Amino acid sequence: MSSSQTKTILVTGGAGYIGSHAVLALKEKGYNVVILDNLVYGHRDVAENNLKVELIVGETSDRALLDEIFKTRNIAAVMHFAAYAYVGESVENPAKYYRNNVVGTLTLLEAMQQAGINHFVFSSTCATYGIPETVPIPETHPQNPINPYGESKLMVERILRDFDTAYGLKSVSFRYFNAAGADPQGRTGEDHNPETHLIPLILLTALGKRNAIQIFGTDYPTRDGTCIRDYIHVTDLAQAHVLGLEYLLNGGESEVFNLGNGNGFTVREMIATAKEVTQRNFMVKETERRPGDPAMLIGSSEKARHVLGWQPEYANLSQIIDHAWQWHQKRHR
Ligand code: UDP
Repeated sequence: MSSSQTKTILVTGGAGYIGSHAVLALKEKGYNVVILDNLVYGHRDVAENNLKVELIVGETSDRALLDEIFKTRNIAAVMHFAAYAYVGESVENPAKYYRNNVVGTLTLLEAMQQAGINHFVFSSTCATYGIPETVPIPETHPQNPINPYGESKLMVERILRDFDTAYGLKSVSFRYFNAAGADPQGRTGEDHNPETHLIPLILLTALGKRNAIQIFGTDYPTRDGTCIRDYIHVTDLAQAHVLGLEYLLNGGESEVFNLGNGNGFTVREMIATAKEVTQRNFMVKETERRPGDPAMLIGSSEKARHVLGWQPEYANLSQIIDHAWQWHQKRHR
């Protein structure tokens, strides 16, 4: 057994959408995993029945709990997914976002520092860039978020930079584009409540759980007038996190990486592909633009490929939607 196989990784938010896929990827590589999740948006049933790792229910802002976890569990590194991630809500209730996403993370980092844990993989976002000046967006693009959610993630990136300089805490931050799809084996997938994301909303409509899918804006300067996004399979995201972790455990310096497919699809293309995959027809309504949506977000992930050797396995859009469809059919039976 290699030493990597005996290491224990704390995954905050491990009962949530992206975190649960990271837990599976870590387990497949032989790591021990402990989840810390407050279960506000995470799913106990998925963690207990499908991930089958230890689940600690609690907050990242609970310093006493963190100290106890670090004292008793020999944690080698932390992967941090726990965060609120509704852009609209962050505009209406920024206090909730800064408290949880920034103060909660700061508490976690201070507890790590005191416990002598120096490796941190962080779930950041392309929302830290704001309105793109160029696409595909490279990591060097200016960061000017246009909502408190993006601000909260950028603040953590800045904290991480300073914690490295001052305390030697090494981190990898991943700026995701649009996470999509589900575990190919059907063990976990996307299940937000309320749901705001395009693919699950389309599939819930295909399942008859919703009357229609709305297209938010048809007058964007794109090939068919609807917004273009870069959809990346969540299992490929999870694999990148394991590579980022191993890069740090092997002595790598702190780094930031985009994670996307480098390919953009319009909302209309997404709906058309979903109709093919599901073999179902459903109602589509064209409505007003949603405030704060840039016309086009596409990421350049060359750096992750080059430095981490990351190679997306599920880059095909039909396959991404098919995995999500399998999950939704099972979850909403
Ligand atoms: N979108 C849409 N109808 C919906 C939900 C989303 O037209 O019911 C569009 C949205 O305007 C954006 C794209 O689909 O251009 C992806 O939105 P989502 O909320 O999934 O992710 P975001 O890009 O906002 O992170």
